[in-house]
Amino acid sequence: MLLFMEGVVIKSEFTSHCFSLTLAKYETSQKPIKGLVTSEKGELKPVAAAKVEQITAQLQTSSAGTKPFDSVERIKDGFIHFKREKYEKNPALYGELAKGQSPKFMVFACSDSRVCPSHVLDFQPGEAFMVRNVANLVPPYDQIKYAGVGAAVEYAVLHLKVSEIVVIGHSCCGGIKGLMSFNFEKPNSTDFIEDWVKLGLPAKAKVTSENGSVPFEVQCTYCEKEAVNVSLGNLLTYPFVRDGLVKKTLSLKGGYYDFVKGSFELWGLEFGLSPPLSVKDVATILHWKLY
Ligand SMILES: [Zn+2]
Repeated sequence: MLLFMEGVVIKSEFTSHCFSLTLAKYETSQKPIKGLVTSEKGELKPVAAAKVEQITAQLQTSSAGTKPFDSVERIKDGFIHFKREKYEKNPALYGELAKGQSPKFMVFACSDSRVCPSHVLDFQPGEAFMVRNVANLVPPYDQIKYAGVGAAVEYAVLHLKVSEIVVIGHSCCGGIKGLMSFNFEKPNSTDFIEDWVKLGLPAKAKVTSENGSVPFEVQCTYCEKEAVNVSLGNLLTYPFVRDGLVKKTLSLKGGYYDFVKGSFELWGLEFGLSPPLSVKDVATILHWKLY
């Protein structure tokens, strides 16, 4: 998010190089965003300023002799392709979707640009209600801190009546690498990231205590999977999820997409439905792998 915001700042600070055509349209809207990374005096924070310089230098190098990236063209082309190849060729599907949605799946996946579940699992429009966030984490039930995720789970379970919630982790996850790397005993060095990935601390604790001697990258891989189990455990803190499990109208699954090997793992869960339920009850039962 911070990078994105810095990207926006670049537009305002270095218009003559790269963004003169699009600047005018965004000038008004970017002012409050710029404020987020500037000090009260209106100066860029030193870290942000350094990053802006670095990105600008990269942009200047990469655009030398090549056509500059045109985001509006890219979006236009993408939509034209979608409309011709999919929307207009599937009037029955899009006609149904115009009336409403009744997806079977709710999916949690990482915001990582390489792991879109619609691509990886070929979900069609209307099939999966999705939440994507850094490290595909499900926070525990908390009406104040995590209303965004809570609203999505509530809507999916109570109103859309999905029958499956799948939490999908993935290889080389930057969020999990952060979780494994940050020293949480020191003051935060990020505005949001540390606080967010902290949700995976039980996974980190398990991995470091059981596999603390294996190389860091391997620990990260273990943690990518273990954090999925922590999220599945957290789903049990939502009363409507527990109700769905007891009534057997809902089931929970963990998944792991490895884009280095090109493999996908899926595991199911068996809960002892008598409380108290803890992360320990999240057992891996129904395991399969596809390469
Ligand atoms: Zn990730």
